Amino acid sequence: MAYLCLSTAWNKVEGIGVDVHIHRITNRLGWVNTKTPEATRIALQELLPRSVWQPFNPLLVGFGQSICRPVGPKCGDCLCNDICPSANIKKESGKAKSKKKQ
Ligand code: SF4
Repeated sequence: MAYLCLSTAWNKVEGIGVDVHIHRITNRLGWVNTKTPEATRIALQELLPRSVWQPFNPLLVGFGQSICRPVGPKCGDCLCNDICPSANIKKESGKAKSKKKQ
């Protein structure tokens, strides 16, 4: 949260703000394999160029609230479901298939 505060209030980018959404989504996508948000922050900072650290949190939080939700992620509606190792579209396969045919 300190990194988010620094970034938002003072436009200082010292690290990626990793909350539970960022931690969950990046682990589901297989970008990191971590147990804690702090470990995720460190892994993401090694993975991503500093130029994307600031917009990274706002971009993914909305996605985590609307699509890649903690419980019942909407994998059938997710544009990443063909590359995501955690995609669970079998339960929603009809919905996913019909969207892809359009
Ligand atoms: S496919 Fe499912 S688990 Fe993977 S990023 Fe999308 S919503 Fe999340």
